[in-house]
This record gives sequence, structure tokens and C-alpha cells, in this order.
Amino acid sequence: MAAPFLALARVFTALDQHLLFDGASGALVQLSESAFAAWQDYLASPAAAAVSPPGLAQLHASGMFREPVYPSPAGSPPAAQGLHSLCLNVAHSCDLACDYCFAGKGAYGSPAPAVMQPATACAAIDYLIANSPPGRSLSVDFFGGEPLLAWPAVTAAVAHGKAKAEQAGKTIRFTITTNAVSMDDARAAFCAAEMSTIIVSLDGRPSTHDRHRQDKAGRATFERALQGARRLAAAVAAAQSPAAAPTSDLDESGMRDSLLRHPDLPLGAGPLWVRGTYTADNLDFAADVRYLRQLGFAQISMEPVALPPNQAQALRPDDIPRIRASYAEVAGMVAAEEMRFFHFELNTDAPSCAPKRFTGCAAGAGYAAVDPAGRVFACHQFDGVAEFGLGEVSRGDGSPAAYQRHEELAAAHVGAKPACRSCWAQLYCGGGCHYAAWSANGDIHEPYKLGCDLLKARLEIALALQAARRAPTQPGQP
Ligand code: SF4
Ligand code: SF4
Repeated sequence: MAAPFLALARVFTALDQHLLFDGASGALVQLSESAFAAWQDYLASPAAAAVSPPGLAQLHASGMFREPVYPSPAGSPPAAQGLHSLCLNVAHSCDLACDYCFAGKGAYGSPAPAVMQPATACAAIDYLIANSPPGRSLSVDFFGGEPLLAWPAVTAAVAHGKAKAEQAGKTIRFTITTNAVSMDDARAAFCAAEMSTIIVSLDGRPSTHDRHRQDKAGRATFERALQGARRLAAAVAAAQSPAAAPTSDLDESGMRDSLLRHPDLPLGAGPLWVRGTYTADNLDFAADVRYLRQLGFAQISMEPVALPPNQAQALRPDDIPRIRASYAEVAGMVAAEEMRFFHFELNTDAPSCAPKRFTGCAAGAGYAAVDPAGRVFACHQFDGVAEFGLGEVSRGDGSPAAYQRHEELAAAHVGAKPACRSCWAQLYCGGGCHYAAWSANGDIHEPYKLGCDLLKARLEIALALQAARRAPTQPGQP
């Protein structure tokens, strides 16, 4: 047997536990105080250590510490899977003007606002169905800008997609990401009926939200967004249990009661998620998560803002200890089964899913985005970047064009990036965001360092939560 491969081994302390994580196999082991100290010393300088740390031989024999085998660039999994996921960027336009928006306040740099026409949305659906493998389960995400501003395109794409997918022997899962400010009851009912995931942007406490998320006139939007989210929650409840559905115009306390007590809307059920963004202004974002939970939302996510370092609200390396503490506080809420937190929902199916994890988001490979004019890009963030353009959805004669995957992106898996090959987080990261790497460093193969550090801080807390929830894992069975 080859010697233990320890380059991806990591020891850390989180949530009052000492843990050993093998980034090659995904195995996670709890350590005693003395074993933790021995492993720390050994990993710091294996050559100098007189004796091996406790359990090394047994853990190795049972499957840990084996060097990963990466896919060859030409054979990377997304290439084999074909196109399976499409983001319909239906609106290069937004009714808000959030100051941290990556999409230039929703316009994606367009000189004039643009919304996708229903015919283009249907052509995009035909393109996805024509370019996906037989029998494949597909996904379509309505995104923007604000997709509610292109509502005819959304409804047309869903109707067309359901009919065409059935004819083709495929299925499509629809999702939507919305600021919910212009959500009405009819749209909410449609989303509840047709979307497998509904993501509403709410940043937490009104002061947090309104600091960054204002409309074009500079007015606060928290109350309007909350009302839209409540309409969605009511519609979801109605779709799941029509007889007991709450109405959408309940006051705050009534809504809280309805959501918490509703027998058909238990924790973790239903398509509705609330997603916030944290910035340097709210490193204590656990308080925002708690606020959202107290409003009744049971499925919550918080994302780090992505801003150039010269901006005041940008996150900085010095912020990481406070951010890690906030994630730990959120873990306490999840451990108490108060809520689900998106980034703590780890898929621990390794090692069987490891090859897929090497490839991350699959932008430009199995995943692509379509702009309002029907142009295809490697993903929603690369929308408008010519270097990552992949043609158009239609040939011009009404028939779908052939998908041209982005060869460089398709081959840029974990094993192809030097920093990622030696990173203990690679199984759960997949090599990071290509767009973040490209925009920070001009090179998709050079990860965005602060993004890596944030992910690793969050992952340590997520792993510790896993360890705390169950008996110590057996080596090789994370
Ligand atoms: S992108 Fe960063 S965190 Fe992710 S695997 Fe690569 S080095 Fe690790
Ligand atoms: S490149 Fe980044 S923004 Fe684009 S799909 Fe991948 S993770 Fe998302």
C-alpha cells in the first residue's frame, strides 16, 4: 500500500470539537485533546515527528489518506453530461438599485434596460432540450436583474418547457430568484405551483437590508420585499394544504404563527428560501439570520458580498474571524433544529460523487446562461463577456442551435488548478467560482483568495455541525 497521502489532511477546532478532516476522502474524525495536539504537530512537520499520530495506520488502512485521481481534461464529467442546466437571464433590468449588485444594478452594463420576449424564452427551452442527453432531468433558473419584470417570458417558458420536455421524455425543474418587491398574489400562486425552488432576496434586519437595497428613487425596500415574501409563503402553504392556508395579508406576528405552526409547512419543506447578502457592514450577520427566522422563514442562506477591495463594504481578510464566529452562531440555530441553512446542507455522499465535485458549478460545460436577446454565455455572471460567449439559442430559422461548450472552462476542474490540488476543501468546493477567479486575477485557474478563505471558514463550521449531529464517522465513510 502506498504511504499515507497527508497533503489534504486538516485538523481544526470548531463548535467545541477537535476534528481531523481528510480532504481526499471526505472522512471526518473527532479527536481527543491529546490526539488533536499530536496530529497538529505531525502535520506541521511529518519528517521531524518521532512517532506517527494516533490512529494513522488504521485510518489509512480503512480508506483515508489516498491520493485523489483527477479526471483528465478531455474527459471531465461535464463534457460527458452535456448541457443540463440553463439560467434564463430574462431581465437586464431591475426595479431596485442595490449598491453591491454584481450586475450593475441589474442592467449588466446594457445601455438600456432589456427584457426577454416570450418567443426567445421558448427558443431557449428548445435549445436546452435539443442539447441535453436523453432522459436527463434538466433545470431552468429565472434570473436577472429582476425576473418579475419579464413575467410573460417566465410564464411562456414554463408552459412551453413542460410540454416540450414531456414530448422529449425529459423533465425540467424550474427555479426563480426574485427581490419580491412587485410580487402579487397571482404571481405568487404561479411560483408556488411551478417552481421547485423560490429564492427571495432579503438581507435580514430592516437596517441591514435598507442600507444597501434601495429602489431607483433611493427609497427603502424592506417592507415591500417582506410583503412579497409573505405572499409567496402564503401561496406555498396554500399549494401544499389549501384548506389550512394562511392569507398573505397577515401582520408580522400572525405570519410568524402561521409559518411556525402550519402543519403542512414544517421545517425544511417547500420551495421557499430566503437569501441575504452580508457585507463589511454586518459581519454579525447571525443577527440577520435570527431576525429572518423570527419572521417565520425556516430555510435561509447568507452569501458574502463580492466587491472590489477598494469599496467600503467589501470583505477583507481581517474580517474572517468575525465571519467565522457568525457562522458558528448560525450553526447553533441549525443544531437546535430551528432552521435550515443552505451552506450547512453538505452532501456527504463522497467518495462516490467525488468526480462530480471536482468540477464545481459546471459553468460553460453542463451549465450556461441566456441573455434577453438569446445570446448564450458560460454563466449568469459571465453574461455579456464576449470571451465567454457560446453563441445563440437559435440558428435564425427557428431551430435550436448546437451548444458550443467552453472548452477551457470545461477542463478547469480542481486537478487542473495548482492551488486547488493542494487544498483540503476541494471536495466541497469544486474549484471555486470561475468568474470570481477571472475578475480578481484575470485567470480562471487562479482562485480568488479571499473567496477561498471565506469558504474554508464556513466549511469548517459546517463539518463541525455534521460531527456534532452524529456519532463520530467511520474512516472512509464521511
Ligand atoms: S477554489 Fe480555493 S477553496 Fe476551492 S478548492 Fe480551490 S483553493 Fe480550495
Ligand atoms: S462561474 Fe461563478 S458565478 Fe458562474 S456559475 Fe460558476 S460559481 Fe456561479
